[in-house]
Amino acid sequence: IIELKNLSKTYDDLTVLDNLSLDIKKNEFFTLLGPSGCGKTTILKIIAGFEYADDGKVLFEEKNISNLSPHQRPVNTVFQKYALFPHMNVYENIAFGLKIKKMPKDQIDKKVREMLKLVALEGKENRKVDSLSGGQQQRIAIARALVNEPKVLLLDEPLGALDLKLRQEMQLELKRMQQKLGITFIFVTHDQEEALSMSDTIIVINKGKIQQMGSPQDIYNEPENSFVARFIGESN
Ligand code: ATP
Repeated sequence: IIELKNLSKTYDDLTVLDNLSLDIKKNEFFTLLGPSGCGKTTILKIIAGFEYADDGKVLFEEKNISNLSPHQRPVNTVFQKYALFPHMNVYENIAFGLKIKKMPKDQIDKKVREMLKLVALEGKENRKVDSLSGGQQQRIAIARALVNEPKVLLLDEPLGALDLKLRQEMQLELKRMQQKLGITFIFVTHDQEEALSMSDTIIVINKGKIQQMGSPQDIYNEPENSFVARFIGESN
């Protein structure tokens, strides 16, 4: 569904992506895994259109979308810092994007209620977001990204700010949502266990290059080089 072809990106004299290509299939839970600074967020930003590659292309269903602005792309993003609107309540936060699109009120209401159900926040719609827990706020951010029905959801360390227990709960919830909705998730993490437990496909990245791509079993049982072996081994 998303293909990256020969992406390169340099900041000043730092090569962040070095001729990187990959192919993400429809409906998969695809994870970019690698140490801090390896270029994961840069890849997501280039897919979302917040950054442009120096070289290379982003294709969506075989069409080149490299020159489209972020809001023209069939993707939506959830960041680690939720970036919710603190002065609005839960309902208004989720409805925001639909209001901008000038969707009729009754349709907005239907969609927002579906989302509240999906993220298990029914009954909380009138609460101000800053009165909710970190996990609840992250669920609102996910609902807000999903309400526009993107074909692809980009998630940049969405669970990074949560404590261990919540993090594990949310891992299960995210996986459940992805399977229920049947949309493609592109998930960024530096946490090996999180990647191994949630993904259909993982790419391990280091210094802007793909070290290995495969299923969690492949990556865990048959690391292709010493970097992957060491990096995956660090989680034990
Ligand atoms: P983390 O897990 O720490 O977020 P990451 O793998 O997502 O890391 P990126 O955010 O993609 O890494 O950054 C890759 C490299 O590019 C880093 O060394 C970072 O400092 C650098 N970088 C990112 N954005 C810019 C920028 N706008 N200007 C200069 N350097 C940048």
